[in-house]
Amino acid sequence: MSDLTDRPDLFVDGRWVAPRSGRRTAVREASTGLAFGLLGLAGPEDVDEAVRAARRAIEGPWSALSRAERAAMVRAFAAALRAAGKETSALVSRENGMPIRLSRIVNGLAPSAIAGYYGDLAAAEEEVDLRPSPTGGRTLVQRRPVGVVAAITPWNYPQALAVMKLAPALAAGCTVVLKPPPETGLDAFAFADAAIAAGLPAGVVNVVPGGREEGARLVAHPGVDKVAFTGSTGAGRAIGEMAGRLLRPATLELGGKSVSLIAEDADLDLVAARLAEISLPNNGQTCHAATRILAPRSRYAEVVEAVSETVAALSVGDPLDPATEIGPLVSEDQQRRVESYAELAATEGRVTVGGERHVGAGWFVRPTVVVDVQRDARIAQEEVFGPVLAVLPYEDEDDAISIANDSEFGLGGVVWSQDEERGLRLAGRIDTGTVGVNHYELHINAPFGGVKASGLGRELGPEGLDPYLVTRSVYLR
Ligand code: NAD
Repeated sequence: MSDLTDRPDLFVDGRWVAPRSGRRTAVREASTGLAFGLLGLAGPEDVDEAVRAARRAIEGPWSALSRAERAAMVRAFAAALRAAGKETSALVSRENGMPIRLSRIVNGLAPSAIAGYYGDLAAAEEEVDLRPSPTGGRTLVQRRPVGVVAAITPWNYPQALAVMKLAPALAAGCTVVLKPPPETGLDAFAFADAAIAAGLPAGVVNVVPGGREEGARLVAHPGVDKVAFTGSTGAGRAIGEMAGRLLRPATLELGGKSVSLIAEDADLDLVAARLAEISLPNNGQTCHAATRILAPRSRYAEVVEAVSETVAALSVGDPLDPATEIGPLVSEDQQRRVESYAELAATEGRVTVGGERHVGAGWFVRPTVVVDVQRDARIAQEEVFGPVLAVLPYEDEDDAISIANDSEFGLGGVVWSQDEERGLRLAGRIDTGTVGVNHYELHINAPFGGVKASGLGRELGPEGLDPYLVTRSVYLR
């Protein structure tokens, strides 16, 4: 294994290869802005070579293995990810500013857990599915790998979001070209290290960091059979258009602007205790973060006080310090973007916490709370992707649901009520792919994904395996 911060080469066809593009970039540390690593970047020829390698692997050694042999290799891949988890999680915190407490879970432990889960799931699939036909014949229903997968990922949860594609793809018998973004290209090579350690045949996993052009080339590449994408809604629309034209299946996990709906009978101590985890995970750089807080008019002042006091008390600092609750953002661009939203917030409501510019090293933005926000304000409609919360008053339950659903997005959401029945009833009226009652937690066993502009398809759970398989019916007498 090479030094984790020094990754000048790409991983293609089971080998470390110098980028044909000739491009390499310095990777900057979110908490200081200083260069701490070197990353090789793919160009068009590198993407093409990676797809060719993935095609050779699927037409050769990978399909020659039995399902049990493949599953054993996916489990070995999981074990290798687990062994590297501690170092990988620290690396991601340096790349994107994620507090280490969270990174240990989502970048340290989750990848191996998810890979192991899909290894087990594939091994447990029925070998033979023989169904009777109405006329006395039989039909063999087969589930076959969809083929070469283009996995395109964002920088916010780089390890978890990549493995949510890689693991089911490998378990299904597909091969993968993973294209992470430059911000978190370094950690993506943990998957190359794990592929080598697990003895995966050459070309089964290829890692080619790059930008939008390389992503677009992959999506349209004639050698690709399926696209698995997580990222912004804008990029998702472009990818969906191309995939539609090519009739190429695509899973799209996109943006969000989720609500935290506080019912009149909510336990505000519980809301406050879980606020950072549910509304500001990863410094707000989380697609499902519940950043629109809906407060009943009857308890509005109380909610504003609880939310403002909680956010003001969050510890902001070095993401590698286990005590840190809010770290820096991923880049200077992202810092500027989020600061512009904090400025906008001051014109669209009343800022109770934060709002001021951060001065000093690193790409920090002070956590900000803006209250008295109207439902159609930009700060209530657009995804900020940083530590900025909007509090909106509502009159009654119908009003709360109407505000909650007045969004182009439909990814997450949480309802707070001491009465679980009431919570469930309200949650049932929110138009999203996932929702929680006094709780919100993604996990291996349950499908995750959005509706409306938050995307198409699901990852995780048994449902997360399906997009990597196509069924074929073989009719027998
Ligand atoms: P982004 O869309 O800019 O980039 C994501 C990835 O797509 C990168 O690898 C990028 O290089 C690539 N890309 C960009 N444009 C492309 C195109 N036209 N064709 C092919 N590839 C392209 O997103 P980002 O800023 O890196 O990530 C933040 C976004 O991701 C937020 O909107 C967030 O909500 C979303 N996200 C969604 C989920 C989810 O599961 N729904 C999870 C995490 C993040």
